[in-house]
Amino acid sequence: FLPHLVAAMVEVEETYIMIKPDGVQRGLVGEIISRFEKKGFKLTGLKLFQCPKELAQEHYKDLQSKPFFPKLIDYITSGPVVCMAWEGVGVVASARKLIGATNPLNAEPGTIRGDLAVQTGRNVVHGSDSPENGKREIALWFKEEELCEWAPVQEPWLKE
Ligand code: UDP
Ligand code: MG
Repeated sequence: FLPHLVAAMVEVEETYIMIKPDGVQRGLVGEIISRFEKKGFKLTGLKLFQCPKELAQEHYKDLQSKPFFPKLIDYITSGPVVCMAWEGVGVVASARKLIGATNPLNAEPGTIRGDLAVQTGRNVVHGSDSPENGKREIALWFKEEELCEWAPVQEPWLKE
């Protein structure tokens, strides 16, 4: 039983998901949270938050040199965002699939961006692109005491 448990544990990843200001303004918070909930991932952090400019710049620092960077920072700080930490086996790549392509016009129907957005500059949601960035971004947006470790009762019905 132990090797099986250890194998399952090492695969558990964390991802940072954020509903951007357009998603909050358009009343899509419940809809977006539902998709991750229904999939079966575990919510470990959740808050509504007005992001300061410095934090937005740090979060998107890899895109600093891009021409759209100033507009991106204005967008992310233009109103409250919903910050979330989600946990699960393969959650990073799976969440990216649920979210869909960066440009909503290229995002498949059934994905969040494919169903709910039309423009790259208003694509309603963020998801970490690697397990390393998942950890980095959760640490950036949440204080340790804002995160909850808990055991969902549905676990035995999600995993054999
Ligand atoms: N973005 C933009 N114009 C672009 C590319 C990206 O405004 O040409 C914005 C968009 O909001 C995107 C974010 O910058 O979600 C981060 O870009 P990234 O390439 O990391 O896309 P993501 O990982 O969000 O799909
Ligand atoms: Mg990205």
